[in-house]
Amino acid sequence: MASVKPDCFRMWRGAGMKMETPTVRPQERDIVQPDAMIGKVRAWVAQARRVVVLTGAGISTESGIPDFRGPQGVWTRDPEAEKLSDIRYYMADAEIRKKAWQARLVHPAWEARPNAGHEAIAGLERRGKLHALITQNIDGLHQKAGNSPECVIEVHGTVLKVVCMSCGWKGPMQETLIRLLTGEDDPPCTLCGGILKSDTISFGQNLVPEVIARAMRSAAEADCFIAIGTSLQVYPIAGAVSEAKEAGARVVIVNAEPTPFDGIADAVLRVPIGKTLARILL
Ligand code: NAD
Repeated sequence: MASVKPDCFRMWRGAGMKMETPTVRPQERDIVQPDAMIGKVRAWVAQARRVVVLTGAGISTESGIPDFRGPQGVWTRDPEAEKLSDIRYYMADAEIRKKAWQARLVHPAWEARPNAGHEAIAGLERRGKLHALITQNIDGLHQKAGNSPECVIEVHGTVLKVVCMSCGWKGPMQETLIRLLTGEDDPPCTLCGGILKSDTISFGQNLVPEVIARAMRSAAEADCFIAIGTSLQVYPIAGAVSEAKEAGARVVIVNAEPTPFDGIADAVLRVPIGKTLARILL
């Protein structure tokens, strides 16, 4: 409602005025009438044969995992916390690594359960409609909800594993957390002594080209593309939205705050994710 220009409302309410469609872009109308739009999006999903979903941190906030940039986001509340996700600080500074490991130890992902949003996407796969699930999330909640590992494209890695930055060895996060609990504060690789890190892509770190290529290919194959709980500020994956649009998909954005891609979306729903997905992805 807030994003509709007051002039438009004056025009609608003007007595005796011809009811012309005001200069409101489609997504602004959608925000004004979310219920009507939810029905429309549900019909698009019902007709679609290849739904591709892109999720961000916002889908997991209802499971108790804060996002980064939302109003209660980790970086919104503490800008210094951004350093813990930056590979340059992580590799150069043992103190940053110690803080990062302490943050991992108490990460809400260990206790989190999938919410109605995750469950609705898992249901879409069970019904054979989900072509791909691209996620920027590292929390593993889509798989916990029942999405198959083959369907989930984790473009920013996973917090459930660790990787050695020297020899590339990977192992379960659980074992490293046990080492922390038994007194190590910056546990090195047991094979080569290199720096260990969660198997996630930090800022400043290279993405895995094959994973990004698969995500972009999937986006281009969608007939309905839904971006959920992402500020769409992290590239290159934010570009999947235009990729899908240019290939002819209907594009839907479900996010509490505006994104840079709202202008090309067929529908924008600024609504809480869990209960909305339960209505859209039937
Ligand atoms: P972001 O923090 O930039 O944006 C999240 C968006 O979700 C915000 O615009 C916010 O308004 C919206 N949102 C939050 N809760 C919502 C709700 N219940 N209903 C509707 N909208 C809601 O997240 P991003 O775009 O994913 O980028 C952040 C990066 O941080 C990603 O790379 C991601 O890997 C990582 N991250 C992951 C997790 C996780 O795995 N759960 C958590 C934090 C950050």
